[in-house]
Amino acid sequence: MSTVIPVSGPGFSPYDVVVGRGLLGELGQRTGPMLGGRTVIVTDKTVAALHGPAAMASLEAAGVRARLLAVPPGEASKSFAELERVIDRLLAFGLDRSDVIIALGGGVVGDLAGLAAALYMRGIGFIQVPTTLLAQVDSSVGGKTAIDTPRGKNLVGAFHQPRLVLADVDLLGTLPERQLRSGWAEVLKHGLITDATFFDWLAKDGAAGAVGEPKALQRAVVRSVEIKSAIVAQDEREGGRRALLNLGHTFGHALEAELGFDEDRLTHGEAVALGCAMAFRFSATSGLCDPEAAARVEAVLAAAGLPTRARQVGTFRATALVKRMAGDKKAERGRLTLILARAVGDAFVAKAASTAAVSAFLEQDLAGG
Ligand code: NAD
Repeated sequence: MSTVIPVSGPGFSPYDVVVGRGLLGELGQRTGPMLGGRTVIVTDKTVAALHGPAAMASLEAAGVRARLLAVPPGEASKSFAELERVIDRLLAFGLDRSDVIIALGGGVVGDLAGLAAALYMRGIGFIQVPTTLLAQVDSSVGGKTAIDTPRGKNLVGAFHQPRLVLADVDLLGTLPERQLRSGWAEVLKHGLITDATFFDWLAKDGAAGAVGEPKALQRAVVRSVEIKSAIVAQDEREGGRRALLNLGHTFGHALEAELGFDEDRLTHGEAVALGCAMAFRFSATSGLCDPEAAARVEAVLAAAGLPTRARQVGTFRATALVKRMAGDKKAERGRLTLILARAVGDAFVAKAASTAAVSAFLEQDLAGG
């Protein structure tokens, strides 16, 4: 049984996110009418080896001629060089403005292929087939696409919504355990932002999803997509409410940056988990939320095998972290914008947070207090 979540908003054409099992085998059937007889699947080499043949076979069975274009796996592929190579291949394959490409992979492939689609002949359609939990609950929905530059992550991009998202939870069966847990951090984040009942379920009955139980995973993906898409519908361009989705990201990004974005030491999802724990502890220290809520958030994240204290992943200095946070691209005109919380399920955008208060908090938090 699959669930269809319609996504719509004032600034873009509506599309569906389909969440279910066995969807890759239905790729041709479900996307054939949009593809006009041909397409290119952009993927990475790891995903190509695991799931490329099933995708190609399904398209072929539906009478679609497909080419597979595989980039090296990993963040390094979100580069101008790889973007140029993808666009060059699309030109070589003779795709025109009416064609639609397919992104089969994690957030890296989705961001790269999405940006290529946004730019190719001033914009062609693309379909997301996310293969990591992070991509299913977060990056495949909402239309943000980007590549990195040596000066920072996601600095060059476009808003370009997909025509369809097919999230097949069975594809998560081949995902390394650490990647699954990292995606789970984003699932928990959605509960923390706006849905305490969902968070309660994730903490207990739904917890099996963090170790790959398909039914729990499917429900977690469905609810996460509902939450994210409702926020995106109100604020596609992040003028206000969409910033809530950055819960844990400003603290987390500072930690990632200090570790040189070394995924072996700290994955993005782990950084988000740490950042959520820190945002709740800072909210508690600031008298905004009950310290018990912060302690519970920490316990639930830890039970899912995620880090909650910075010292678990490295040694950091408060001054260095604050500097990174102030330089975060979410900082508006030098003030610190943080996503803080009044309770589990009740996050809000705190503009102009006091840098001194954040500094004092970090000094204490890093010391383990
Ligand atoms: P990723 O795409 O690099 O995938 C992680 C690893 O898992 C890769 O090595 C990949 O080859 C492998 N993999 C993917 N699917 C697999 C599967 N089913 N089985 C086995 N291995 C598989 O990383 P990610 O965590 O999916 O995404 C991170 C990226 O997403 C970052 O670049 C981040 O900036 C971006 N992102 C974008 C948005 C957005 O809104 N556009 C939101 C969040 C994150």
